[in-house]
Amino acid sequence: SVFDRIKAVEGKVDAYLTLDEENAMKKAAEIDEKLAKGEELSPLAGIPVGIKDNISTKGLRTTCASKMLGNYVPPFNATVMNKLDDIVVTGKLNMDEFAMGSSTENSHFKPTKNPFDTERIPGGSSGGSAAAVAAREAIVTLGSDTGGSIRQPASYCGVVGLKPTYGSVSRYGLVAFASSLDQIGPLGMCVKDVAMVQSAIVGHDKYDATSSYREYPDFAADLKADVKGLRIGIPKEYFGEGIDPFVKQSVMNAVKELEKQGATVKEISLPSTDYALSSYYIISSAEASSNLARFDGVRYGFRAEEYDGLVDMYERTRSEGFGDEVKRRIMLGTFVLSSGFYDAYYKKAKLVQKRIMQEFASQFADVDVIATPTVPSTAFKIGENTDDPLKMYANDVCTVTVNIAGLPAISIPCAYDDKGLPVGMQLIGGKFTEQRLLNTAYAYE
Ligand code: GLN
Repeated sequence: SVFDRIKAVEGKVDAYLTLDEENAMKKAAEIDEKLAKGEELSPLAGIPVGIKDNISTKGLRTTCASKMLGNYVPPFNATVMNKLDDIVVTGKLNMDEFAMGSSTENSHFKPTKNPFDTERIPGGSSGGSAAAVAAREAIVTLGSDTGGSIRQPASYCGVVGLKPTYGSVSRYGLVAFASSLDQIGPLGMCVKDVAMVQSAIVGHDKYDATSSYREYPDFAADLKADVKGLRIGIPKEYFGEGIDPFVKQSVMNAVKELEKQGATVKEISLPSTDYALSSYYIISSAEASSNLARFDGVRYGFRAEEYDGLVDMYERTRSEGFGDEVKRRIMLGTFVLSSGFYDAYYKKAKLVQKRIMQEFASQFADVDVIATPTVPSTAFKIGENTDDPLKMYANDVCTVTVNIAGLPAISIPCAYDDKGLPVGMQLIGGKFTEQRLLNTAYAYE
């Protein structure tokens, strides 16, 4: 039925880059057989799941929505794919090229459309992952979040998206954008679906040196709609200028709901929020410039057809293989890391990062959860921000701090505007407090 749905709506939504119906049907039949034999299966066995196209899937094309990896078929699975062994993979989902963007317009192949209004963007970079869930073209999906790429499209598409604590989900096999910020996480129609996927993908992995050894609860089994005594902080910096009044009001109304259920609410301040965007774009671009050096026409994917010697081959391959936004990030990244500018930019950005981490840590001594808008507005029109990178970057103002501080956060739908477009509320927690975040979201839902 999911593939029937894909056939009916995919032409309008364009969420997928690759569909894998034949293998999906085979896998579904295998699961049916196992069921018939009474074999014990995982809770997600047979569930149709769509995968963002920067997560390596053995034998299934993984493009990162880039010409550079247009024909790349990974010889191995990302760890999350091995952990989700029993699922049925529907296909690979569209995204901004190498996860750089906020609208999925930076895909080399095609833009994805918002199922609520196909003239609007679904958000990004996991736009395909959010749109597929919203359009019921998958039951749940995996996305990745470096500066908001799970939460922001979840907000624009009216679905639930969880960005896990840095180090809780293995990044092995996730094509690296900014390794110190990247995390894989789930998107779904409801909190329980997201909790189930999170339970399945979380955990230590010897192939990821940043992966934590901690034990995790079974998030879905332990889900409790109970917020009695929960202390919620409202950071005034996230409700200031640039945030749409309807978005502010909707989030405040949602917080009031939680208050009615027994939570206490107080205003707090995170004063370095103003510097978060600049710091994020410096750190993430610096890491990207290094991570993307591997795409040289020799080791992976695309190589320019005509060239004159090795250096020319590198130059032409990278000039032809990368899109404009990726080039912009590589140039910005190499610039902020260059010897003359390192102290002025990269080092300062890392100091801001430390400050932001400390501010969160000190707030989490007084509050359990911080509530903010996920994005400043509802989904914008396709093409509206493409000529203005700074305007595009401004979309991430509420989400990047979470990655900079390595924290978990969830976006859940909390209202619809007069055009029927969804608004998301973001709940941020201290490190490894996913259960509390999920419980809070579940109580609201
Ligand atoms: N929009 C942000 C960026 O372009 C976030 C991307 C992400 O989280 N992958 O960097």
